[in-house]
Amino acid sequence: MKNRPVIIDYTQERLEHYSRMASLSFTPTLITRTREVLAMPQKFTRGRRTSAYKYHGVCYSRAKTIFINIRLHYSRKSIDTTVVHEIVHIRYPYLSHGEPFEKRIEAMQKGKVSKPPKHKYVEKWGI
Ligand SMILES: [Zn+2]
Repeated sequence: MKNRPVIIDYTQERLEHYSRMASLSFTPTLITRTREVLAMPQKFTRGRRTSAYKYHGVCYSRAKTIFINIRLHYSRKSIDTTVVHEIVHIRYPYLSHGEPFEKRIEAMQKGKVSKPPKHKYVEKWGI
């Protein structure tokens, strides 16, 4: 899809929605252009800087920032799926890809609100 304001607004709305569903204390910053990735401090983007264009989405947890690569998406539904995927990375930083991770995505898409993150994760990850 073309990276137009109306699609950026839609993506931002999904990001706010899933941030609430994930019981995060903040909505991550949305970026949709690789130049915005390059403008971030390198300490946050190490290893996922010049490669970001290849991915549907990238989560920069320590910067509380999510990159959504709108051009690689072909529908609003697929943007929704990428947004919830990246939000699950932020909410459950100890989960890597796999079945438990997919279950969290599914639950959130079905409308299940996550418990507030445990204090130790709030302390460690600032979520
Ligand atoms: Zn992922």
